[in-house]
Amino acid sequence: MNKISEKTDIQNFIQFLKENNIYQFHFVYNQSNKKVESSHKELQFISDFINSDKRDFEEHEGMFFQLTDKFDVLQGAFVHRTKRGQAAGGVRFWQYDTIEEYFRDGMRLAKGMTHKNALAGLWWGGGKGVMVHNTEIDKQNIDYREYIYTEYGKLLTHLNGCYVTAEDVGTSVEDMANIYKSTRFTTCIPDYVGGSGNPSEPTSRGVLAGMEAALAFKDETLAGKTIAVQGMGHVAEPLIGHLFDKGVEKVLAADINPDVVNSVKKKFADKNLEVRVAEKGDNSILFEEVDIVAPCATGAVLNENTIPKIQAGIICGAANNQLEDHDRDDKAIAEKDIIYVPDFLNNRMGIVNCANEQYGYVNDDDFIERHLLKDWKNGVYQTTLSVLKEAKETGQPTSRVAIKQATDMSMELHPIFGHRSQKIINSLVKDKWFEK
Ligand code: NAD
Repeated sequence: MNKISEKTDIQNFIQFLKENNIYQFHFVYNQSNKKVESSHKELQFISDFINSDKRDFEEHEGMFFQLTDKFDVLQGAFVHRTKRGQAAGGVRFWQYDTIEEYFRDGMRLAKGMTHKNALAGLWWGGGKGVMVHNTEIDKQNIDYREYIYTEYGKLLTHLNGCYVTAEDVGTSVEDMANIYKSTRFTTCIPDYVGGSGNPSEPTSRGVLAGMEAALAFKDETLAGKTIAVQGMGHVAEPLIGHLFDKGVEKVLAADINPDVVNSVKKKFADKNLEVRVAEKGDNSILFEEVDIVAPCATGAVLNENTIPKIQAGIICGAANNQLEDHDRDDKAIAEKDIIYVPDFLNNRMGIVNCANEQYGYVNDDDFIERHLLKDWKNGVYQTTLSVLKEAKETGQPTSRVAIKQATDMSMELHPIFGHRSQKIINSLVKDKWFEK
């Protein structure tokens, strides 16, 4: 194996690692020669791929991996930029067909966390965990999950804290508890071991603040408006409640799960809520003639097929990575004069909720609640206004403006610890962590 290509099957790669007795490895960016260097010469072809990539790679400080002894699960920690602090972001448990797909997803998601954390004014850098599900094993098998998450914790312990994990797609709070058995570098742990609990309600208030700011930009308020919500899950349900509290005229909502639809319908039986069960892949709820559409289900729903049919003047929802193709779709939305509140701006409350777990808890915690206030400069409301203003002045799409603002903020050094995680990465390389 000497070349990465889309045909490079992930299982072949795992086999290749085993044949070469490689169970831990890394790719680290060398600031002086501006090249990504690998821990093993056998993996040079991956360094070459990363070095030549212009799309997802952006001087990621380090990427660290292990292959579990049992179950052959490839586990990674992608560290993008840590000037503001340790890399923080959830660990995704997903199925990948090729190693290119796997590396691209990790790099892209880690970069996204740099943007989300920096724009929220958090003193955290950006990173993401990604582990590859072994499809030969039942995903819900308790022994499998306990083993792989405990092993993942060991990887993080080896990495000395340059990456701190959390929950993400495919992982649960119980998985975090398993990670916590072998490392302290995790957040979003269950409340019975001192974690901060489910962040979905605060996330719904972040989305609400984004909507209010977008309306304020047009000198309007939520009162009397109509809103279409895609998905009726953990974020959407409290969001619907908050919208009625703010005096909206009507909410239309859809979910693919009939039980969820019935339960939410029952909860808001006395409100003007119209619900429907959608087929998987049916995005028609986004095309309703309403003031705001809120994607709160899955990613990539804003694309070439859906954007031309959207009639609402504002898009603001919780789902991660709503734009299927960032540059293309961002522009297409702006050209339709639709105000798009970038997802990573308004859905930050998950990471905000988890960010300061180690500092303990207070009621109505100012470090959490200020993100939802209208007058804090780094809060969702003011940041949305600032992004919309700059987008109007420069003619740039909102997501591009938000990324620029986030990138500038991500270059600021942590006021106490400076670029400490880069030092951690340097010592990991020097000490050959992968041989331990
Ligand atoms: P959830 O799983 O509780 O709810 C999502 C709902 O969407 C489910 O009920 C599912 O049945 C439904 N759904 C899936 N595909 C659909 C489709 N095509 N049409 C209609 N409904 C569909 O998830 P959640 O915690 O409410 O999160 C919603 C989104 O927000 C996700 O993309 C998540 O990654 C993102 N997000 C959540 C948080 C949080 O705090 N929970 C934080 C940041 C981002």
